Amino acid sequence: MDWPGVTFGAFLGIAGTYGLLALALFPVMQRRFLLWVFVRTMAFVVMALALFPVPLPEWLPSGPLRIAIGEVAVAIGVGCTGPLLADYIEDWLQLRRMRAWLNTQLYTGMIAAGATFAAFRWPFFDAVHDVLLLFITAVVVAGLGTAIRAGSNAGRFQAVAWSPLIIIGLTTLIYELSTGSDLPMWVTAALLAIFLDFVISAVGLAAGFMAIQSQRDEAVADVREARIAVATDPLTGIANRRGLAIRFRDTKHGRPSGLAVIDCDHFKRINDQFGHDVGDEVLVAVAHGLVEDQVFPARQGGEEFVILLYGEDWQRRAETVRQRITLAVFELVPEMPFRVTASAGLAEVYDDDSLDSAVKRADRALYAAKDAGRDRMLAWSSNAVSGPQLARIG
Ligand code: GH3
Ligand code: MG
Ligand code: MG
Repeated sequence: MDWPGVTFGAFLGIAGTYGLLALALFPVMQRRFLLWVFVRTMAFVVMALALFPVPLPEWLPSGPLRIAIGEVAVAIGVGCTGPLLADYIEDWLQLRRMRAWLNTQLYTGMIAAGATFAAFRWPFFDAVHDVLLLFITAVVVAGLGTAIRAGSNAGRFQAVAWSPLIIIGLTTLIYELSTGSDLPMWVTAALLAIFLDFVISAVGLAAGFMAIQSQRDEAVADVREARIAVATDPLTGIANRRGLAIRFRDTKHGRPSGLAVIDCDHFKRINDQFGHDVGDEVLVAVAHGLVEDQVFPARQGGEEFVILLYGEDWQRRAETVRQRITLAVFELVPEMPFRVTASAGLAEVYDDDSLDSAVKRADRALYAAKDAGRDRMLAWSSNAVSGPQLARIG
């Protein structure tokens, strides 16, 4: 098997995947280090193409220029590591000076890239190039150390991902500076180290993305829960006044045909005789009694409820529900020795009605029902001769 070819192909594959993953995640995660990851990855791809002995199309630079382009790509790639780390370290860790040092390493990398071309004329600049890369590596190592000491998880993770590359980079540079010639096989070793870096970093990136995703899901669930909570009456579990207003506006369910305001009769007596707790149990039972098809029940406050009524036959349904209250309390609060009844006022919901205007009309009917002796439902009916009139339903 052609091992160098396989290594090279695997390298290009992982580099492409990792670089494009970072670029694709940028709009979602909105973290600048992802752009540095992309630039750095592309620089190392150029380095691999230029320095690895693979045949390239003829129109691409060859000979010393090809090597120089590779060296420039190394300098840019290594230089990007500084700002990448500066942006990757958790925001809550201040480390302002360390970040500033890391950010300037991009410029050190660019100077090192320039030195590559200067070395065409003055070979001495080869050493300058190497010393500058050594300097960047030292700053990155110091940055990792500072970040880890400050408790950075990102720093710890990157130290693992980068240590093969740092070790190989340092060995190569020190060998070159001390002997004046290239370390044998350094390109292959560097590609393997960068390969490991990309694999480990890609795992970190995916884990980071998944963490953000799950935080977002949690936040969405919290908001949904909070929305339901503020619209629900904690005692009875049905909608409260806010839930009622939301439902009234909700176009998904259409406009209700009518609404009723229902008030328990002599509720004060229940509290006085049996205590507030039993009063609460009665309220829960009342809410149970209000559950019915095409009826949306809500607790308006105290012992007063509002139901929105949908569809045809809504008047009859309202009366059914009102009468069921007595039955529900009888079943769910068996210690109650007398019938608990409720009075109700019913109003049609007109096209130009707001919730308030419709409730106001129903309220007037409710007062009339109380005055007329309680335990009944009164509704407004229109009559061309006499105008709006109250009539008993049921
Ligand atoms: P009416 O037939 O005229 O409506 O008489 P009522 O006694 O029902 O009316 P009133 O408005 O005089 O009294 C309502 C009572 O409801 C007074 C209050 O203590 C009680 N109440 C209001 N909210 C709650 C609650 O959350 N729990 C309990 N147990 N009682 C409540
Ligand atoms: Mg009452
Ligand atoms: Mg009341």
